[in-house]
Amino acid sequence: MEQGLKSRIAIIGGGPAGCACAYFLKQKGFLPAVFEKNSPLKTLLPTGGGRCNLAHAEFDLKELAVNYPRGQKFLYSVFSRFGTSDTLEFFEKIGIDTYIQDDMRIFPVSDKASDVRNAMINSLKGVKFIKENVISIKLCNGGFEVKSEGKAYFFEKVIIAIGGHSAFSLASGFGHKIVEPKPALTALKTKEDFSFLSGVSLKNISAACAGKTYFGDFLFTHEGISGPLVYKISSLMARENFPYKIVFNFMHGEDLQDLLNANPHKNIKNIVSEIVPKSLAEAVLKICKIDENLEAHKIDGKMRDKITNILSNFEVDAISTAKGGEVVTCGGVSLGEVDNRTMESKIIKNLYFCGEILDIDGFCGGFNLQNCWSTGFLAAEGASK
Ligand SMILES: Cc1cc2nc3c(=O)[nH]c(=O)nc-3n(C[C@H](O)[C@H](O)[C@H](O)COP(=O)(O)OP(=O)(O)OC[C@H]3O[C@@H](n4cnc5c(N)ncnc54)[C@H](O)[C@@H]3O)c2cc1C
Repeated sequence: MEQGLKSRIAIIGGGPAGCACAYFLKQKGFLPAVFEKNSPLKTLLPTGGGRCNLAHAEFDLKELAVNYPRGQKFLYSVFSRFGTSDTLEFFEKIGIDTYIQDDMRIFPVSDKASDVRNAMINSLKGVKFIKENVISIKLCNGGFEVKSEGKAYFFEKVIIAIGGHSAFSLASGFGHKIVEPKPALTALKTKEDFSFLSGVSLKNISAACAGKTYFGDFLFTHEGISGPLVYKISSLMARENFPYKIVFNFMHGEDLQDLLNANPHKNIKNIVSEIVPKSLAEAVLKICKIDENLEAHKIDGKMRDKITNILSNFEVDAISTAKGGEVVTCGGVSLGEVDNRTMESKIIKNLYFCGEILDIDGFCGGFNLQNCWSTGFLAAEGASK
């Protein structure tokens, strides 16, 4: 076995968390070795639909932390040390100007994730990237032996930033508890076949699930349902068993009777199409067994109530997660065993974690990358001491 490079600090994983950590270590005068089995920051490219929603314009740390179904309390102290303003300052320093969209999501001015990636990689000149897959990390002579396929290295400190889709055994091998990984922020498959409505979308509707009400944009897909509203529900229900029921309200507060009164000679399909897209209006009338060509003045109270009831209580049975969405991992390294001031393991000295490998996940809107920048910063602070 070849004995490779000697260096003080290794980062395992060159995704957003690992690279942010490498940047902050470099700022402190350390040049870590970053093990990345693929290309560095490849996982940044699809973020925000290729635009990279790198943060959220929430500057109050407690309000920011509310957006993490897992990790909220752990993140209070993390965000008090590195919050949204620090993220913006970091990007400004590496030459990425940002803007805040209407919905408070923050993007690079160029709207290109590739520009963010290039700027981050340029800022890491001098950092050694080792394109190898790490297969084991073991305690050795007061430090760590990091083994890839065919090579072994020695480091004094190791930061694990392998994300949420990887070999958790690198952490569990040290005795760390892994909270069972489950997908979150996903589209959902439904028992009902909505393939004939695939692509139909609705803006800012509400949905009730497990006793709570949520708002957002919604989309029918070939397999079921998707869109930010569904991602949020999938995230909050990530630990629950399938199937579960979601009841959508498509009505937007409109009163069907008012529309009928105002348009007595319009056919019912065109009237319902003022509330929801035409193909959904047709489907609703089919479910109600009402002739879509019937004129408004012929719609009696019973028919009106039937239509209103379906539009405002549109029941869907979610049966599993589906492809699509941001797909972050709910679960990972248990937070009780990590010091949130330094990201150091409470079990093994000089071992650190940052990013999605931790049992932290946020909603859509830039929160998951914010977790990477913030925990990456603190791991660098911790490991540089
Ligand atoms: C389609 C999509 C869109 C998204 N959009 C957004 C968005 O707009 N805003 C937002 O906030 N979040 C978004 N997210 C979530 C965000 O991308 C992740 O939370 C983030 O990438 C996690 O960063 P990380 O560095 O912790 O892990 P990762 O990005 O998973 O990086 C880990 C790295 O470690 C490497 N690695 C793993 N194991 C090993 C090993 N054994 N040896 C060597 N290398 C290893 C991997 O190759 C990878 O490069 C999106 C996610 C997806 C899937």
